[in-house]
Amino acid sequence: MEHYDVIVLGVGSMGGAAANSLAGRGARVLGLETFAPGHDQGAAHGGTRIVRQSYFESPEYVPLLRRAYEGWRRLEEESGRAIMELCGGVYIGDPDDVTFTGSRSAAELHGLAHEILDAEEIRRRFPTMDPADDAMAVYEANAGYVRPEETTIANAEVAARKGAALRFHEPVTHWQATPGGGVEVVTTRGAYGADRLVVTPGPWAPQILPELGLPLAIDRMVFYWFAPEDTDRVPYESYSDARHPVYIEETHGNGQIYGFPMTDGPRGGLKLGYFRRGTPTTPQTIDRTVHDDEVDDMRRRALQLFPRLTGELVQAKTCLYSVTPDEHFVIGAHPLHEQVQIACGFSGHGFKFVPVVGEILADLALTGSSSLLPTTLFDPLRPALQRGRAASASS
Ligand SMILES: Cc1cc2nc3c(=O)[nH]c(=O)nc-3n(C[C@H](O)[C@H](O)[C@H](O)COP(=O)(O)OP(=O)(O)OC[C@H]3O[C@@H](n4cnc5c(N)ncnc54)[C@H](O)[C@@H]3O)c2cc1C
Repeated sequence: MEHYDVIVLGVGSMGGAAANSLAGRGARVLGLETFAPGHDQGAAHGGTRIVRQSYFESPEYVPLLRRAYEGWRRLEEESGRAIMELCGGVYIGDPDDVTFTGSRSAAELHGLAHEILDAEEIRRRFPTMDPADDAMAVYEANAGYVRPEETTIANAEVAARKGAALRFHEPVTHWQATPGGGVEVVTTRGAYGADRLVVTPGPWAPQILPELGLPLAIDRMVFYWFAPEDTDRVPYESYSDARHPVYIEETHGNGQIYGFPMTDGPRGGLKLGYFRRGTPTTPQTIDRTVHDDEVDDMRRRALQLFPRLTGELVQAKTCLYSVTPDEHFVIGAHPLHEQVQIACGFSGHGFKFVPVVGEILADLALTGSSSLLPTTLFDPLRPALQRGRAASASS
C-alpha cells in the first residue's frame, strides 16, 4: 500500500489550499477528490466570492483576513493566474443593525481604513443603488472579490508542482485510524496509508464524518445573474468593477443580500443572492433547478436596491452551504483521533479565508498546533456545537 506523510480528503476550496501549503513545506502529500478541479457540485463555483476585512460577523476574524490577503497575492504569483480584484465593498444597513454597526466596530477595533456613508452619499457614489433613506453604510476600499474556480485550479496546479500527488475522480469511500497511530483511506480505486489525515469535505462532511454527529445544516442556496438596463444616467459602465463595489445590504428586515459588480461584461449580468435563507438538503438530493417563483422573489428584492436591474435573467445556479449553529467554522483535531484534522462548517462565509485555512491545516497536520488558529472560535468541541448535537439528536 502506498504510504504518505499526509492525505487530504477533498481537494476543494480548503483542501486545495491545504495540499498546497503541505507540499510547500516538503511533506509527501496525497490529495483525493471525487470530481475535477473547479467543479460545480460543492461550494466553490459561480465565478466570484466576496473578500472583505471589516467583518461584521466578529472582529476575531480580522487577523485571519489580513493573513489571507497575503496568501491571495502569493497564490496569484505562484500560479500566474488573476484571482483577486479589489474593487471596494459597501455594507449597507439600518443605523442600529449589525450589517452596519458590526462592520464599523471591526474596522474601528482593527484600524482598518473605512468611510461612513449615508443614503445620499451612497446614491451619489454608486448611481446604480437606491437604498432606503435612513440607511447607513461602511465603505471599505480594501474589499472586492476572488475567483473560486481559478483558486481551486491554481492551488491544485501549484501543489502538484511542489510534488503533491493529486487524484481527481477518485472518491473516498471510507477511512479509519490504524492501531499504529496513522490512517488508512479507501477509495473507489484503492487503499492508501498515511501518518496524518486532513478532512476537508465541504457539504459532504455529514457523510464522511458521521461519528462526530456535527450539527451542520446543509443548505441549498441560489445565485442569480440579472442583466441591468443601459440608461443615460446609469450606463453599463456604472456596474463594471472599475466603478462598482461588492456589497451586502439589509434594511427594515428585508432579508440580507450580497452581490458583485459586473465582472464579465454586460452579457454576464450582475450576480447577487440572499446571504441566508437556504433550504435544507444534501449533496445527493439537492434540487439543482431554479424555479420561476424563486427568480421572481429575488428580482423583487433586488429591485429594492437596484431600480434598473430590469433586464433578463442571464443564469441562476445552486450552491451548498454547511452551516453551524453559531455560524463559525469547525477547524481542529478530530476529537477521537489526534492524527486527523478536520475543517468544515464554513457557514457560507469561508471562501475569503482559503489561503489562511490552508496554512492552519498544514500547521496542525505537521506540528499539532497553529499560532494562526483562534483559541476557541472554531473548536470542534465548543459548547455551541455540543448544544447543536443534543438538539439534532432529539429532533
Ligand atoms: C451561494 C454561495 C455563496 C458564497 N459566497 C461567499 C462569499 O461571497 N464569500 C465567502 O467568503 N464565502 C462564500 N461562500 C462560502 C464558501 O464558498 C465556502 O465556505 C467554501 O467554499 C467551503 O469550502 P470547502 O472546502 O469546505 O468545500 P468545497 O469547496 O465544496 O470542497 C469540498 C471538496 O471535498 C470533496 N469531497 C467530499 N467528499 C469527498 C469524498 N468522499 N472523497 C473525495 N472528495 C470528497 C468535494 O467533491 C469537494 O470538492 C459562498 C458559498 C455559496 C454556496
